[in-house]
Amino acid sequence: MVTRTPLRLAITTSGVDKGLLSEDDIVEIDEHGKVVAGSGRPSAEARLHLTVARVRGAGAVLHTHSIWSTILSDTATDGGVTIEGYEMLKGLAGVQTHEHREWLPVVGNTQDWAAAVPRVEAILAERPDAHGFLIRRHGLYTWGQDLADAKRQVEILEFLFEVMGRKRGMPWQP
Ligand SMILES: [Zn+2]
Repeated sequence: MVTRTPLRLAITTSGVDKGLLSEDDIVEIDEHGKVVAGSGRPSAEARLHLTVARVRGAGAVLHTHSIWSTILSDTATDGGVTIEGYEMLKGLAGVQTHEHREWLPVVGNTQDWAAAVPRVEAILAERPDAHGFLIRRHGLYTWGQDLADAKRQVEILEFLFEVMGRKRGMPWQP
């Protein structure tokens, strides 16, 4: 969750079970990733969350480590993954028709996000239409105006990733 001027993020601490979160597992960080309230080390990817919040003006940023996002992230051909023609695309912010073509950038994984953030920022600026991005063999980032909005986008994208992933394993390909 995000507040602005000054930019502040509430973010989970590193290494906690996201299914067993308590208030103590969430810290508040400033625009540099420094903890300003709560105790604990913020997620290693805090800088990525901050970048998305800043560049996209998001009120909430969500990140998953799902099986299907991991599989799909490995299928990028032109630096990203394209999903088009599905009714469920209409669940993405501003999308009105199944004829929408969604292109999600795939960025390389790293253990040094401080160094990699400028590249992610450049990609987000280049593709203002993308509703999320994948980290290769790692997971999905998406966002929304608020938590409910971001959660809906996670559900939509994860649904579509599973469809795409399962289809690849089928003998027929329309
Ligand atoms: Zn991650």
